[in-house]
Amino acid sequence: MLQLRFVPFYLLHASLMIDSAPSPRIEPFGTHNDRNEALDALRTEFDGLETEYPLADGSTARRTYLDSAASTLRCTVADDIVRRALRHYANTHSQLHDGARIMTHLYHQAHEIVGDFVDASDDYTVVFGGSGVTAGLNRMARVLAERRPDRDVVITTLMEHHANDLPHRKHVGNVVHVPLEKDPDGDAGRVDVAALQHAIGEYADRLNYVAVTAASNVTGVINPVHEIAKMAHEVGALCVVDAAQSAAHLPLSVQGHDPSEALDVLCMSGHKIYAPGSPGVTVARKALFDGLEPQEVGGGIVDRVETDRYEITDALPEREEAGTPNLPGALRLGATLQLLGRIGMDVIEADERELTQYALQRISEVDGLTLYGSHRLEVADRIGVITFNLEALPHGLVAAALNDYFGIAVRNECFCAQPFVRDLLGRTGGDGAPAEECGPETQPGMVRVSFGLYNTTDDVDAVVDALEDLVERPDWYRKQYRPAMDGSGDWLHRSFEHPPEASFSLTEAVDEWLQGVEATTD
Ligand code: PLP
Repeated sequence: MLQLRFVPFYLLHASLMIDSAPSPRIEPFGTHNDRNEALDALRTEFDGLETEYPLADGSTARRTYLDSAASTLRCTVADDIVRRALRHYANTHSQLHDGARIMTHLYHQAHEIVGDFVDASDDYTVVFGGSGVTAGLNRMARVLAERRPDRDVVITTLMEHHANDLPHRKHVGNVVHVPLEKDPDGDAGRVDVAALQHAIGEYADRLNYVAVTAASNVTGVINPVHEIAKMAHEVGALCVVDAAQSAAHLPLSVQGHDPSEALDVLCMSGHKIYAPGSPGVTVARKALFDGLEPQEVGGGIVDRVETDRYEITDALPEREEAGTPNLPGALRLGATLQLLGRIGMDVIEADERELTQYALQRISEVDGLTLYGSHRLEVADRIGVITFNLEALPHGLVAAALNDYFGIAVRNECFCAQPFVRDLLGRTGGDGAPAEECGPETQPGMVRVSFGLYNTTDDVDAVVDALEDLVERPDWYRKQYRPAMDGSGDWLHRSFEHPPEASFSLTEAVDEWLQGVEATTD
């Protein structure tokens, strides 16, 4: 196995030097006004905005989707584009017929768009794989562990999703969790940069990379990733950024303003940026893969295969994408990011900031509600992710009642960030909470409301009105539910049921089509 002695990657790429603010590589179209109009037109172009469900009071309501941090809805503009492209569908590994050549071209184009969307220069490769950030972070933890086995420490923060923690523990070894800043109100903000600097100094010789989220999936707070990259580079370490949450909300630049602050790896999930069904994305410096055996081997990545040996292509991303790719997903991602880039992520960011400001204000006025994390935008910047608990009712019951009585979809529990959520709740310490602390009333967790570009102030008003009703009549709501008692912290309605199979069944949908055929041929 080839091993590189460490040379800071930014020194290998002096051509990256840029002295002005990074400007988007996908050129925004028209005037600012045109772009705002396009954003307004786009708001309604998503599958699932009009879906109706029965409520526990016997009525039916159009759902209010406030769970975009888990997965966004799918953009129908991109879907239509993909449907048209799929008239040419063929496998990219076929080479000479028209369909195969068109698909291969479109697949390359999708990679190029993703690279442009995150401002990646030619020194980076864009690798598609898996279905989200989890696949990319596991891949890069393995790559970086193999590349520099003598560097067995990763520094991360207390605010990470398990996907940006467990792969580093498993593949690299030692993970140090840096605490967060307290803002002037005493609330958790971004990573404590001084503590991070101290940890970087302490582990300088062993530090492989700093792995940090660009924005928290619990508090929405944004981290200064380029400042962190610069600090990591100063001791010869790398910077790996989890952009799962930020990608749909903020302009991204892997290069930053200066080579010393360029990110080494950035991962994102297409399903969190309006393209469910698309692959996970890893944008990484090409040099990181030099001389390493690809993580997965098979068809499409080899120049020559004999029964006793094989030669792997040098071409990237091909050598990291064995097998037939998820082509429809890749095209969907490409079309979606091109659309967002042409409207301009600055326009989308500004629009969401207004909505977030409005939501923070309104939600914080609900009686007996505790908001988690820094919640003044002028103190700590954040994306549209807001978590809270009501004093009057446990989070599992709140989430169930919002769904059953108001048709509002939110997420609850720990959002795959258990150490952070426990810390915010003051529930840390010991080897685990005693059983009585994990009953349905006391299961650690919160309620999370999160926005996509289709959400409006009406959606915020709807959730605030619903929460006010819960706070006014907690005993009534409590009587309607019973705890699931399966250790999950879930609450079940005593009389109302809306089984998923009542809404949609694949087998019934197939039969419907067959019956249509029968009817037309009779
Ligand atoms: N990182 C963050 C901050 C997330 O919010 C999530 C998912 O919620 C992930 C990583 C994992 O993403 P995926 O499930 O798409 O792999």
